[in-house]
Amino acid sequence: MRLVRATPAEDGPLEAADLPTPEPRAGEVAIEVEACGVCRTDLHIAEGEVSAHLPIVPGHQAAGRVAALGPGVGDFSIGDTVGVGWMASTDRTCVYCRSGRENLCERATFTGRDRDGGYAERLTAAAPWVYRLPAGFSVLEAAPLLCAGVIGYRSLRLSGVQPGGRLGLFGFGASAHLAIQVALHWNCEVFAFTREEPHRRLALEMGARWAGAPADDPGIPLDAAVTFAPAGETVPQALSRLARGATVAINAIHMSRIPAFDYETLYGERAVRSVMNFTRSDAEEFLRLSTSIPIRTRTEIFPLADANAALARIKDGTVAGAAVLRI
Ligand SMILES: [Zn+2]
Ligand SMILES: [Zn+2]
Repeated sequence: MRLVRATPAEDGPLEAADLPTPEPRAGEVAIEVEACGVCRTDLHIAEGEVSAHLPIVPGHQAAGRVAALGPGVGDFSIGDTVGVGWMASTDRTCVYCRSGRENLCERATFTGRDRDGGYAERLTAAAPWVYRLPAGFSVLEAAPLLCAGVIGYRSLRLSGVQPGGRLGLFGFGASAHLAIQVALHWNCEVFAFTREEPHRRLALEMGARWAGAPADDPGIPLDAAVTFAPAGETVPQALSRLARGATVAINAIHMSRIPAFDYETLYGERAVRSVMNFTRSDAEEFLRLSTSIPIRTRTEIFPLADANAALARIKDGTVAGAAVLRI
């Protein structure tokens, strides 16, 4: 399923295309894709809010089996169960890459934005950015771990939440439903803020202590918060629920304008920070943790041909857990 021209999700931006089979170049792995998670970033790309190299095959939570190896790849064998996430490459030489912050590389490329991704039967990826899938997961269950899971995990860490702390999650989609499982594993108390009543029910069912609308007040200050919703107003809403010294981490690649707010909302050493991409060690750590917790993924499965419908459902906020394409 390919994007030629960005249009609103309800107009069906993706079209079926019969493309040549991609062959791996030196250092690359070809993967027979069996499942690909559908991420809100794919929606932003399809609708043109995040620009991509068009035409492009979207999808950056691809799970499947190694089908072919390019020259010089020694870490994988044909048939290995592997996955590919959002990060496709970095320059490895810049100040960020040389200081353990490859997620910030200004010359990074991205799967399903700069090179064809997983809404397809086959893709190629640079071997250093291919991961072995964790034990105990089917490919359909593992796919959402590759972006929703890994970036949610990085967001939790950047929020500074400590074991046993009170954590606010603003928005309760694919990423939050995985992050809550990590937070509960750390014995945090979780407060879920979301407009969608089915998402509030899901949060409570999964172990949240409280669930309400984004503007509701649970009546107790939070030690950290992560926002997942692309709506700018959630940032001051989250800030106003924080204890002194606490941080809001923003898990979003694109967000509507953040409304102005009084300095008092931020004062008290509260902080706001964005979260950008992930490092390979974030991915490896999170995938290990997924097996040891163990994380359980809630998925709604769509056939590849229904990728437009999956994007429209993410836009409506009606997917419970993660949308995944079965290839
Ligand atoms: Zn994503
Ligand atoms: Zn770099």
